[in-house]
Amino acid sequence: MADFDRREFLTTVAAGVAAAAVPAAASDAPVPARGAARDAEGGLAEPAFRPLPLGAIRPAGWLERQLRLQADGLTGHLDRFWPDVARSRWFGGTAEGWERAPYWLDGAIPLAWMLDDEPLKTRISGYVEHIVTHQRPDGWYAPYPEDAARERYDMWAILLVNKALVQYHEASGDGRVLEAVRRSLRAVAGGLDRTPLYDWGRFRWYEGLVSAFYLFERTGEPWLLDLARKLRAQGVDFEALYRTEDVTVPAPRRGLWKWTKHVVNTAMATKAAALSWRIDARPDDRAFAARMIETLDRHHGQVTGMFSGDECLSGRSPLQGTELCAVVEFLYSLEHLFSAFGDPPFADRLERVAFNALPATFAPDMWSHQYDQQVNQVQCTINLEHQWSTNGPESNLYGLEPNYGCCTSNMHQGWPKLAAHLWMTTPDEGLVAAAYAPSRVDFVSRGVPVSVGLDTDYPFRETMVLSVRPRRPVRFPLVLRVPSWAEGARVEIDGAEEPMEPGSLHRVEREWSGETSLALRFPMRARVSTRHNGAVAVERGPLVYALAIGEEWTRVNADAPHRELPHGDFEVRPTTPWNYALVLDAARPEASLRFEEAPVGERPFSPEGAGTSARATARRLPKWTLLHGWAGEISLVDAAWAHPAPADSVGPLEQVRLIPYGCTNIRVTEFPRLDG
Ligand SMILES: [Zn+2]
Repeated sequence: MADFDRREFLTTVAAGVAAAAVPAAASDAPVPARGAARDAEGGLAEPAFRPLPLGAIRPAGWLERQLRLQADGLTGHLDRFWPDVARSRWFGGTAEGWERAPYWLDGAIPLAWMLDDEPLKTRISGYVEHIVTHQRPDGWYAPYPEDAARERYDMWAILLVNKALVQYHEASGDGRVLEAVRRSLRAVAGGLDRTPLYDWGRFRWYEGLVSAFYLFERTGEPWLLDLARKLRAQGVDFEALYRTEDVTVPAPRRGLWKWTKHVVNTAMATKAAALSWRIDARPDDRAFAARMIETLDRHHGQVTGMFSGDECLSGRSPLQGTELCAVVEFLYSLEHLFSAFGDPPFADRLERVAFNALPATFAPDMWSHQYDQQVNQVQCTINLEHQWSTNGPESNLYGLEPNYGCCTSNMHQGWPKLAAHLWMTTPDEGLVAAAYAPSRVDFVSRGVPVSVGLDTDYPFRETMVLSVRPRRPVRFPLVLRVPSWAEGARVEIDGAEEPMEPGSLHRVEREWSGETSLALRFPMRARVSTRHNGAVAVERGPLVYALAIGEEWTRVNADAPHRELPHGDFEVRPTTPWNYALVLDAARPEASLRFEEAPVGERPFSPEGAGTSARATARRLPKWTLLHGWAGEISLVDAAWAHPAPADSVGPLEQVRLIPYGCTNIRVTEFPRLDG
């Protein structure tokens, strides 16, 4: 693009910002280029909905408590004691200089700015300062090896750090950071000609598109789209991969680690089509995005909305593990997918994973986490007889870095990025509720600042109150995503009630003035779904329910490095029975369940803080009927109870309590079923 064209382009950008959000803090933060890039020759396809700049959305209610727990837990402290971040080569130290510090920044940045946590923001700014001021004249960041121009260097960490740095730029408006990203991407573009992508970079090529698109939308420099095409051309073609059996066949127990079956690569790659589609709007990309997830569901799907991978794709059994990195990466992918394509099922899935799989894999105080979570997980112990495909015996411990430290550095992005994607803007300068959690959002429509608040305990309640407050009267659409399970959904505005279609985007378009309240109700009916080997799972709204089991936590690895409390390692064992079959009415299984509400706790995702619970009738079974393969290992409990139990081995009717899956630390979720 010639200089003149570029100036004109930037003028177009400036004129196209009507629905841009109020920048978070900095006065010199560039405005998002709404619609303008599409108008530029060879520009990007316009996404269905645009995320708002970091800082435009603020958490409230239980979500704010959850983010605060995270900042008071491992995320807000990792840079103080864990060498791979605290002494990272990215920050001038001598420890790891690859993915770990960039991973931490990728989650700590949105967390710190969303909470406006000044001490954390100040520390992060210092780290970013170090990265930017130590960038070499040729554009490579300091940890990049001096001889990498001659030797092979895997580009993954560079793609990752630039993704984190553009978030920092968006939050802080520091123009030097954007220039550093620009110089880095220039170096990458040249580097790819010398050394085409391989290994991690080849499987994660689309991560580089995030920062390239961000920069393109602010500068209009066409070489950035050439870079995006080059990354795609050198990277894995997932559409071709998903035509093979490689991803459909579960990795066997003690199987071989494979790039193509790696669960984190898989979770990240679910957004490849959304990013690729923006380059040239290929219809195939759009169609493939949903097909990829359907394939994963069919062969590896879990009731939490995740797919298994411990750490390679490992089938539908609830005993297999799912790595925490895959959970947070799948959430980020779903945020991209809903933004690009605007299809409600992606956002339904976003809530399902965020409200179930994400919280379940952390201790309630967010100081410790698992590497692998299981849907049926009755104990978490160091287990040499584990059933993982390629992970080690400590993978389901709650700890500092069980099995391997990738999750320790990558877990931080889950909650803050969810919060940052609850609301997005529409092409006609409106606002869309992508996912629901208590929050407030500030944005600008047709030049008018608008504040929207969402007061709710959803997903623990089925009602919410939205309040819309424009600074002066303004007309814009408010688009409400209606979950696919919400039969009978209604919205009430000014005393008038309207029905809403489940699985749709319900549009409320009017002139907004003063303060308008909207009362939303998404009726949550119990559902009993049939899972792997005929086992049953209980769901209601976006939540999955699991058996509440008494827990005993035992500290282990106390003498291992960096395990001083509160960041220790723990085993968890059951103190109450877990070997139940649910007794359900054959014709109407959901009628056998009684749901109750309780206040949402200070720790919203803890057994004692559970905001809802269910009573069910159950009978105890001999443990052997639930064992699977390796006698005596109760962590191997399998709900896949394929054979009728002998009548005399079944216990009397009992009442059991189910709580949201995300509130449990140990659990049974997929149960054998008995007809009541
Ligand atoms: Zn991991």
